Amino acid sequence: MKLILLGPPGAGKGTQAKRLEERFGIVQISTGDMLRAEVAAGSPVGKEAKAVMEAGQLVSDDILVRMLASRLQQPDAAKGFILDGFPRTVPQAVALDRMLAEKHLKLDAVVELKVDDAALTDRIAGRFTCSKCGAGYHDLFKPPAKAGVCDSCGSTDFTRRADDNRETVAARLEAYHRQTAPIIPHYAAAGMLKSVDGMADIDEVARQIDAALAAV
Ligand code: ADP
Ligand code: ADP
Ligand code: ZN
Repeated sequence: MKLILLGPPGAGKGTQAKRLEERFGIVQISTGDMLRAEVAAGSPVGKEAKAVMEAGQLVSDDILVRMLASRLQQPDAAKGFILDGFPRTVPQAVALDRMLAEKHLKLDAVVELKVDDAALTDRIAGRFTCSKCGAGYHDLFKPPAKAGVCDSCGSTDFTRRADDNRETVAARLEAYHRQTAPIIPHYAAAGMLKSVDGMADIDEVARQIDAALAAV
């Protein structure tokens, strides 16, 4: 199974990608996570990306296309993958088409999570992640079963993203509408687009995605 999960920041892409990883035995490829790892490592890419990410803007297509191309070469991507956060611009979508065609690979579906901007601000403001295992949580919508303890690994160490604040969210939503939303017609025209109501609760969104994928 080869999927793209598409949607604005905070739509639930990471949450659903983690579940799909287990369900289909495929890897989540999150370009946001990859960039944050580069920033943490202080690499040349990380140094270039840090300020751009903190301003809520998009990192250059050049960097992202190179990063994704090398990630797709890794053996764990051979069984299938879920792209989370890529492509985010029309040039990235075109580059991905070319990359897949060269490998004689075809996407199975592009799942779009539709969520209102007003709801996204609250989702992003309450988001936090387990520092040890990466499990995602929300202050209101998905708190750990025992406060302060990760359900998955028992760690008591959590992090919040530097760009998950109300000021940066406005810039990220603007970037989504201006630069990312135009790729939706690209996939609709190719007959690959499955749109899901991302406003529903996490389990209901999961059911809708499963239903959409059952038909591919
Ligand atoms: P979210 O989960 O909120 O959608 P991500 O973790 O996917 O955010 O991305 C965080 C930031 O990393 C983005 O705001 C952007 O600066 C950068 N980024 C991630 N993926 C891409 C991409 N494909 N193209 C350009 N910038 C990207
Ligand atoms: P994205 O990867 O698209 O930026 P996330 O999966 O990180 O989004 O979700 C953003 C936040 O909203 C997280 O704190 C997550 O726990 C929460 N969340 C995800 N899906 C839903 C949902 N359907 N309803 C309510 N909260 C959700
Ligand atoms: Zn954990």
